[in-house]
Amino acid sequence: MTEPAVAAEAHLRTIAPGIHAWIGKGGDSNAGAVETKDGLLVLDAQQNTALGLAFRDALRAATGRPVEKLVNSHYHMDHVAGNVAFAGEAPILAHEKTPGKLAALLGPADADGRWTVTETITKVCAFYGPNTVELVPEGHPMWDWFARRFAPPEYDRLTICPPTETFADRYEVTLPGGDVARFAYRGPAHCDGDLILHIPGARVAFMGDLLFHGRFPWLGDSDLDGWIETLDHTLTLDLDIVVPGHGTPVTLAEVAGFRDLLRALREAVAAKISAGASEDAAAAEVTLPAYAHMGRYAEWLPFDVRNAYRYLKAG
Ligand SMILES: [Zn+2]
Repeated sequence: MTEPAVAAEAHLRTIAPGIHAWIGKGGDSNAGAVETKDGLLVLDAQQNTALGLAFRDALRAATGRPVEKLVNSHYHMDHVAGNVAFAGEAPILAHEKTPGKLAALLGPADADGRWTVTETITKVCAFYGPNTVELVPEGHPMWDWFARRFAPPEYDRLTICPPTETFADRYEVTLPGGDVARFAYRGPAHCDGDLILHIPGARVAFMGDLLFHGRFPWLGDSDLDGWIETLDHTLTLDLDIVVPGHGTPVTLAEVAGFRDLLRALREAVAAKISAGASEDAAAAEVTLPAYAHMGRYAEWLPFDVRNAYRYLKAG
């Protein structure tokens, strides 16, 4: 029997010896950890302090190991707003573009080098990409959806700790037994600064938000062609288990399916542009019936069409 695409409750699972995946509730963001000789390399930190602490405590209970390093797969806040749960314990590593992305969005940090985020509009830009304010007009019902998204009290006041170390292309750690944990820059794609964590001997990869499973994607501040290319590259790797940024672990078949979804969206929008359609007409007319059963398809498709329209026009 295949597993549901989203988990009923957040939980930690061991997907290969010494490799753990934290699967978010209901398609909320995932995270992971790899055991090294010195402790744990942790990938991503959840979307608020409480979830970051729950993830950290589950890792402690399951492994008894200290955190050697936290790595952020990209700058979106559903993956970094829990950094604070790890900040006193370990350095935070990210791609060299990630600190600049955070600073551009959040402005000068507080005196302690952190940011405090309280406004809904900043949360929307930090979780869904800064271009969300241009795509979703003021007064649109999507703003009510966003308000509900951030209504729970754990989102009132988000504390963001920035990365303390960065790298440009690749960061590798040799694991006990000789395998490696390889963090490789694969952007611009889902945003810019995207990392894939590949453990080749275990045939496992963590994709961050380069892969969504079980919901229609929000294109946000993506580079659509770069994203499709990165998925094409992933399909050349020898992998048994692929952990998406949202949804339960999958195989390369689902990576190919997601690449096909992005291609279908791109082609549908490109066809409208070739036919001379306006952005409003494209947003009203493009449908992708093969994907209409997916969660968030109805809410997100028109904005993804606008996003892809602007991207293709600018290209
Ligand atoms: Zn993201």
